[in-house]
Amino acid sequence: MTNELPPRRTNQARTRLLSVTGLVVAGLVIGSLVIWHGRLGDLLDGDSAADKQPVVAGSGAAGNKPPAIETSATLPPASEPTKTPTNPPKTKPTADPTEPVKTTRPVYAEESDLGLTPRMRSRLRKATAAAKADGITISITSARRSVAKQNQLLKAAIAKYGSYREAIRWVLPPDKSAHVKGKAVDIGPRSAMTWLEKNGWRYGLCRRYDNEPWHFEALTTPGKHCPALQVSGAAEAG
Ligand SMILES: [Zn+2]
Repeated sequence: MTNELPPRRTNQARTRLLSVTGLVVAGLVIGSLVIWHGRLGDLLDGDSAADKQPVVAGSGAAGNKPPAIETSATLPPASEPTKTPTNPPKTKPTADPTEPVKTTRPVYAEESDLGLTPRMRSRLRKATAAAKADGITISITSARRSVAKQNQLLKAAIAKYGSYREAIRWVLPPDKSAHVKGKAVDIGPRSAMTWLEKNGWRYGLCRRYDNEPWHFEALTTPGKHCPALQVSGAAEAG
């Protein structure tokens, strides 16, 4: 009895092993077939899938589209700040050049006494009022001149008289001219010249040149006699 048991067990074990191994082999064969088919399918589909992957990656590039949308979304706010800075500078440069010109360079008409020195202007206004009381109108033909205007007059005089030496008898260079300094005035008409030459000393105004009866400067203290006439302004030019 005890001897029968082991062989029975072995027989049963063999049949079990066979059935198990059969199942295992069948399973392995079936499994390998399934895996092989799967690999074939993967290989066959793998090419198309590999072709699709770049497309998917391209559609992944569609993932780049959101950033493009972000940039386009950032564009409108970017255009708004650019609009606001561009507008202020347009108004500033136009306002800046005009203001310094007004403050640093007051431009008066050559016929105005506003460009004259305070002393010259004060004396001329007193003399003009006194002349008016005598029925004489003193009109300013040229008071303060710019350097550019004086140069322009000098050029014209050189052309008219033929030489610089002749021209400076009538028109001095800017650095020598009392007109550019606001310290001289040319007046008219002839009646005013005559009146001021006779009465100007009371207000400190004197005719200066023998060849220019219209040209007056503040050459004396009011109430004192004027110095002798100079031949012309040529001596001033050196
Ligand atoms: Zn003059």
